[in-house]
Amino acid sequence: MNWIDLRSDTVTLPTEKMRNAMAEAELGDDVYGEDPSINHLQALAAGKLGKEAALFVPSGTMGNLAAVLAHCGRGDEVIMGDRAHTFLYEAGGVSALGGVHPHTVPNQTNGTLRIEDIRSAVRDNDVHFPKTKLLILENTHNNCGGVAVSREYMLKAASVAHESGLAVHLDGARIFNAAVEQDVPVDQLVSMVDSVTFCLSKGLCAPVGSVICGTKEFIAKAYRVRKQLGGGMRQAGVLAAAGIIALQEMVNRLSEDHQRAKVLAKGLTTIPGLRLDKGSPNTNMVYLELDKETGILASECAKLLKQEGILIGVTGERHLRLVCHYWIRDDHLEMVMKAFQRVFD
Ligand SMILES: *Cc1c(COP(=O)(O)O)cnc(C)c1O
Repeated sequence: MNWIDLRSDTVTLPTEKMRNAMAEAELGDDVYGEDPSINHLQALAAGKLGKEAALFVPSGTMGNLAAVLAHCGRGDEVIMGDRAHTFLYEAGGVSALGGVHPHTVPNQTNGTLRIEDIRSAVRDNDVHFPKTKLLILENTHNNCGGVAVSREYMLKAASVAHESGLAVHLDGARIFNAAVEQDVPVDQLVSMVDSVTFCLSKGLCAPVGSVICGTKEFIAKAYRVRKQLGGGMRQAGVLAAAGIIALQEMVNRLSEDHQRAKVLAKGLTTIPGLRLDKGSPNTNMVYLELDKETGILASECAKLLKQEGILIGVTGERHLRLVCHYWIRDDHLEMVMKAFQRVFD
C-alpha cells in the first residue's frame, strides 16, 4: 500500500540521489577517524552551523545524551523545559546513564522558558544541592506545536545561563526548519549556544543520523562519550553520504513543507469540530483538537483514516498531529482533506 504517512517527518525515505551517493560513497574506519565521507559531513555541518567541530551520531537521542554527558558529571543538574524532548522522550537517559539530575521549568506555549524561571532554577552553591551546569533549549519545539523560537529569545536565555556560569545546549533536531521559517541564517540562530544537535533523518530525508556541533574541545569529549555509549561506527560513510546531500540540497525546500502544513490546516479547519492548536501550524506540524461534540476520539479518527491509507499521529485523547515532509505532495493534501470530511460527516 502507498501510505500517505503524516505521523512524522522521521518516516521520510532517502531520495534517489541519496541512494546513489550511498552506493558510491568513499569509506574508511570512522573509529580511526579515517572515513572520508564522515569527515566531509562533519566539516560541512560545523561550517554551516558556525561551530569549530562536529560529530556524527546514530540518532538525535544519542546526540543530546552525549552532549549532556560531555557538559555534566554525575550529580550535576540540567535545566530544561517540562515539555522538552530530552525530558519527555529520551527514556530518561541523562539520569539513567549519566546520573545527571533534570530540573524542569514550565514550557510556555511558544516553546520558550520564562527568563525568570531559568534564573531562579539555578542553584546556590550549597552542599545540599546538585550543581547546576547546563541549560537545554529546543528549536523548533516539537511538543509545543513545532514552533520556531526566535534568535532574540535564544540570546536572552543563553546570556542568563552564561552569566550564571552554565553552558547552553540546543536540541536543534529541526533547527533548519526554524531557520528557514524565520529567514535567519542557521549559524546566527545557534551563535549563542555552546553545543547543538540536529537531525539529518527528519525533514532532511537522510535515512539515519544526527550531528553534534561545538568547540573542538567539547567535540573531543563528546567523541569519547559516543564511544562509551556504543555509538562508534565503522564504515558509517554510507550514511554520511546521504547526510551530505541532506545538508546541501534539502534545507531550503523545507519552506515547501511549511507551506503545505498551512494549506492542510486551512482545509481541515473548515470541518466543524476540528480546531487548530493556538499558533499551529508554525512550521511543518499541524496540531489539531477534536471538539467533544464530534463524538469521536483521536484514536478512532486515526483508525478510520488508516482504512483510507492515511496515517496520522495521535497525541492525546482528542489531539492529532499531522506532519508535512518531502514525500507529501499537493494531491495528497486534497486526499487527506476529503478523507477527513468523510470521517466527520
Ligand atoms: C526527534 C527528536 C529528537 C531525537 O531524535 P531521534 O533521532 O529520534 O533519536 C530529539 N529532539 C527532538 C526535538 C526531536 O524531535
